[in-house]
Amino acid sequence: MKVTVDRTKCEGYAKCIQASPKVFKLDAKMIAEVIDPKGDTDEKILLAAKICPTKAISLEEEGTGKRVFPVD
Ligand code: SF4
Repeated sequence: MKVTVDRTKCEGYAKCIQASPKVFKLDAKMIAEVIDPKGDTDEKILLAAKICPTKAISLEEEGTGKRVFPVD
């Protein structure tokens, strides 16, 4: 999956890092960044996206570009 953090929305709650520590980390500004989009299972990455309080994480299927999260 393609994993994107909208850094204008992230407020550094680090919930995503608890859910998926090999995929996300906080940078020096305490904003999340993607360090390895393949560092965890898709299920765990989806959980990380769902628990982000500011909905800063979006996910797309590799190749098709189909939106996985958030969906309307
Ligand atoms: S859970 Fe959301 S707000 Fe918190 S660090 Fe991760 S991306 Fe940022």
